Amino acid sequence: MGRIYMDNNATTPVRPEVAEAMMEMLKGCYGNPSTLYCIGQEAHVALGHARDIIAGIIGATPDEVVFTSGGTESDNLAIFGVARAMKKKGNHIITTKIEHHAVLNTCKALEREGWSVTYLPVDDQGILDPASVERAITDTTVLISVMHANNEIGTIQPIAEIGKIAKARKIIFHTDAVQSFAKLPTNVDELGVDLMSTSSHKIYGPKGVGFLYVRKGTKILPMLFGGHQERSLRPGTENVPGIVGFGRAAELMHAEAEEEEARLRKMRDRLWEGIHATVPHIRLHGHPEKRLAGTINVGFEFVEGESLILRLDEYGICVASGSACTSDVLEPSHVLSAIGIPPEGAHGALRISLGRENTEDDVDRLLDALPKVVEDLRSFSPLYKEYMREKKAAG
Ligand SMILES: *Cc1c(COP(=O)(O)O)cnc(C)c1O
Repeated sequence: MGRIYMDNNATTPVRPEVAEAMMEMLKGCYGNPSTLYCIGQEAHVALGHARDIIAGIIGATPDEVVFTSGGTESDNLAIFGVARAMKKKGNHIITTKIEHHAVLNTCKALEREGWSVTYLPVDDQGILDPASVERAITDTTVLISVMHANNEIGTIQPIAEIGKIAKARKIIFHTDAVQSFAKLPTNVDELGVDLMSTSSHKIYGPKGVGFLYVRKGTKILPMLFGGHQERSLRPGTENVPGIVGFGRAAELMHAEAEEEEARLRKMRDRLWEGIHATVPHIRLHGHPEKRLAGTINVGFEFVEGESLILRLDEYGICVASGSACTSDVLEPSHVLSAIGIPPEGAHGALRISLGRENTEDDVDRLLDALPKVVEDLRSFSPLYKEYMREKKAAG
């Protein structure tokens, strides 16, 4: 039986059309896009085409799209770049407790340089209250950074409402839209954002490429210095095959977004109902509806997420523990902590993220394997045995 990949929030397989577009560039279009002769101009045109596609999807102008090496660099450029440009105006940044580490650790680095950062809490379903953003604003606030969709629990934040607040107070607003770009509507005017980070490998494009949307007039300084590429905001010879692949991936994902969203939601809900019906002592982490269509983060009492992953791997099924980014660290996920899940609960968390290659058959196979694996693991758990004894004694 084939392998079932259900960890699409960590990364996605490159789709064939994308690989093909990239291969064409790799084989036949090696010119430097900054050069004037024809092979350079071919690369220049291909870059421009990708930029136009992306700008169209987010409702921006092409020169507001700055290609980077991915989500992490885009987040760093947005936050450090604004901090450097605005340090005479103030030294306060507002963000949330559930951001990706690319945002959190960038903010922590700024704190070590004397910046003050407010990490806003979210409710027990993982949603940020826009009023709390308003209350956190001070005279020294220069940047608000709130992610669009969370990579661990999938919750979707009220970005447009926060955007209105930021605009009224004339504060630069950044969103990490790595999990939502080309899947959910990410029109930058509707969201009211000045900066938006994205990444190609979360939408079936290649790894190592992304972009930062930078609204015209936004005060931001570069992190890297060199040539004039990307309006000098991100110098260095462009990753032409990567950017072309990203453009193609974005175009394809965007075209099928609504249909795919409905298909994933249906599979996700059937999967959740199936788990719920066959496995006792579980809970859904995150918001029941305001959530990415393919994401289920579920806590299993009396089991370790890591053991679950390894046992499911034996069935050829790839899923993640509470968070892919913390899976080699023993600390419980910061996102699950932020929604009030105690450490023992967070350790029993599993993240299933469906993608375009998953089928109803895959859902059936997971639904077949999961109850067996959980029951087997629980049979080794002293806590579970004790619980069952007490339950029996209580009648
Ligand atoms: C994956 C991810 C990132 C990091 O993107 P890379 O391209 O892997 O650097 C940032 N933010 C979120 C929400 C992500 O899911």
